[in-house]
Amino acid sequence: MPLFSRLLFPLLAALCVFSCAKDKGGNAKVSSLVVPTDEATELERRIIDDTLTDIEKLSSELGHSKSFRSIPVLVTSERPEDSGRFAACYSEDGQGKFIQVNRQVLRKEKEIFMGTTSTFFQILLHEIGHCYFGRKHLDDQIDVSAYRVVLPHEHSEKETEFGIHSVNASAMHSKNMIVPNVLKKYYVAEVIGLAASRDVPALQSYSPLTFTLRGLEPNP
Ligand SMILES: [Zn+2]
Repeated sequence: MPLFSRLLFPLLAALCVFSCAKDKGGNAKVSSLVVPTDEATELERRIIDDTLTDIEKLSSELGHSKSFRSIPVLVTSERPEDSGRFAACYSEDGQGKFIQVNRQVLRKEKEIFMGTTSTFFQILLHEIGHCYFGRKHLDDQIDVSAYRVVLPHEHSEKETEFGIHSVNASAMHSKNMIVPNVLKKYYVAEVIGLAASRDVPALQSYSPLTFTLRGLEPNP
């Protein structure tokens, strides 16, 4: 009998901790664009570069070879104006001009919990959605309550079962979230315009997780 442990994705729905939305769409639009001075340290710049490389690599694996370096990412000690946000895409005439990031979210270079991306990965992916794809916020959930969600282990019969009921449909959620590594490719695919159906088959396409309707599982 396969050994499995039941885990939760406690962070997907529960830990929406960083508000990033000022207006409904989430894009910060300014009439006269005042570009803040970039205060990035060498380490912070490296974190940004590494995270961009990570997102570009996943995006390129999905057949989207565009670079996400044409719009500057500026680090400041202050949060973006008018908000409790930690990051914002500033646009003018519908064109992304710069991404401002509060250095608080750049403190954690590594994964902050085992099996999840850094907070900054999701924040940067979210702002890329605003700045490069003109995406607005999307708080939809994908209901997976009817499914048994399992991560098979490579080279063994072991598997990990996740006790989750719903998954954020997009990294464009109006509250920032923590992204499990097993879903990072899905979120990149969704932000760049693939996975537009935002349903269980889309999750299945871009994740190593398996989704089996309960009641259809083979008897052990
Ligand atoms: Zn936003």
